[in-house]
Amino acid sequence: MAKHQFQTEVGQLLHLMTHSLYSNKEIFIRELVSNGSDAIDKLNYLKLTDDKLKEQYADWSGEINITFDEEDKSLTIIDNGIGMNEEDLIASIGTIAKSGTKSFVEALTGDAKKDSNLIGQFGVGFYSVFMVASKVDVISKKAGEETAYKWSSDGTGEFDLSPCTKESSGTVIYIKLKDEEAEEFANKSRIENIIGKYSNHIAYPIFLNYTEEVEEELSEEDKKAGKEAKKTTEKRHEKINEATALWMQAKSKVKQEEYNDFYKSISHDSQDPLATIHTKAEGVNEYTTLFYIPKTAPMDMYRADYQPGVKLYVKRVFITDDEKELLPTYLRFVRGIIDSEDLPLNVSREILQENRILANIKQSSVKKVLSEIKKLSKDEEKYAEFIEQYNRPLKEGAYQDFTNKDKILELIRFKSTKAEAGKMTSLEAYKEAADSEQKAIYFIVGENENVLRNSPLLEAYKKNDIEVLILDDKEIDEIVTPMYGAYKEWEFKDITACEAPKVEQSEEKKKEVEEKFEDITKKIKDILGETVSDVRVTNRLSDSPSCVVKDAGDAQMAQMQQMMRAMGQ
Ligand code: ADP
Ligand code: MG
Repeated sequence: MAKHQFQTEVGQLLHLMTHSLYSNKEIFIRELVSNGSDAIDKLNYLKLTDDKLKEQYADWSGEINITFDEEDKSLTIIDNGIGMNEEDLIASIGTIAKSGTKSFVEALTGDAKKDSNLIGQFGVGFYSVFMVASKVDVISKKAGEETAYKWSSDGTGEFDLSPCTKESSGTVIYIKLKDEEAEEFANKSRIENIIGKYSNHIAYPIFLNYTEEVEEELSEEDKKAGKEAKKTTEKRHEKINEATALWMQAKSKVKQEEYNDFYKSISHDSQDPLATIHTKAEGVNEYTTLFYIPKTAPMDMYRADYQPGVKLYVKRVFITDDEKELLPTYLRFVRGIIDSEDLPLNVSREILQENRILANIKQSSVKKVLSEIKKLSKDEEKYAEFIEQYNRPLKEGAYQDFTNKDKILELIRFKSTKAEAGKMTSLEAYKEAADSEQKAIYFIVGENENVLRNSPLLEAYKKNDIEVLILDDKEIDEIVTPMYGAYKEWEFKDITACEAPKVEQSEEKKKEVEEKFEDITKKIKDILGETVSDVRVTNRLSDSPSCVVKDAGDAQMAQMQQMMRAMGQ
């Protein structure tokens, strides 16, 4: 048996693992399972490319086995993948620190919490096992080679390496748990729970093996005779993950029903989704996305503490379902997954938010979702369903997402003075219907559709045959509509704050009228006093004698803040 010193950086790292990193210990299972899955990936590839292995592994298929033993206080993770020879063991988990390990150690701050976040970013997954282990044996045999090797360490300073025998290729990782961790991790439901959370869609089956004490079933006769039931132990071998990443399958191979089932399993929704968007991107960034639009908006859509609906995976390994930045807030109703081939496993949240790969995925995902909604809009009936649920978040989007503003505005639907009762119009339709002189989109905002439709301010527009959008979702319309600026160069104009269209009066005529009515406007102003900022003669009205209008610069800060909070910002 040969003793080896860990390289300084590895030693430092191990010291840290055993002494100061104790948040989120459960991830060691995810890391080891993911290594097993990587090892199977590699053998899968070799089997395709290496003639010698092709024959030998003709009947082979990859799997991961986990066993635990409460009495022994141990956990074993076994894969039948590529395996490691002596050099591999030394290089991968020993003396030669990967460049990642070195930068990891350099990046350490000494603050345990921050540092534990760093673990994943640098791909130092294997060593995380020392958060829970008092001793680890790695027994491995490389595919196509004869000798197997056993690597053992207690995570301090050095490791032992010696040849041993092992029948088939692959790796066995025997973890002797620290006393204080044994109860938690040598536990059936805890393991199932961790696998379900992180490794459910690993492409290979994961089996849990354990023995269970069972009591012999006694016959009525034996019971009467007072015979005691014998206890025996039975071996169990149960698959504990789904073992298929649905999103990795070719679109043409997946039935809508399978998409729907998967949607239900991730969304906790009992209805089928309104739309399914499955995309595989290749090129600079390689990733797969599978998005769904629920029929009914999620219950917490208007709560600041809403649960984001998109899960992030890296190569089928679950990373997080609590990252609000994966899609913009206005698309928070979208459910689904993003699976990246390029991100490092276990990227920390801090890194996620400024990661360029993820920013790219986000940008293309938004485009994809928006174009899918546009497709949906061709089906009037289906789209009405969509609009009923999601018109409001789209309005937020048109205000938040400057890059896609026009695209989003095109998707929003509006009540209007010209739309039939119960129908809504789009800005494209609005523009098309307008006469060639018109270069603005007129709107009026308020709480009550009826009151708005009867507003005296509409008279001048009716007379001039100009369509006015009736915005009665005041809470949001009042804030976002003035912020849109323009749609394809057509400016949005609030009719309570702009001049009426097609002013036929000349300036002289206007002055003349103003002078004529100066006395009366002054009198009204005196009576109303502070409650108004001005009283003016207007050409806005044709039938009604007067109306109240808004100051163009009215800022509704309090309400704006409330709205922002509701949008989850
Ligand atoms: P990463 O997986 O990011 O490379 P890890 O610390 O998890 O980092 O693993 C280090 C290396 O050890 C892997 O890249 C791989 O070469 C090797 N390794 C770990 N576990 C296994 C395994 N079960 N089978 C084969 N090789 C493994
Ligand atoms: Mg790993």
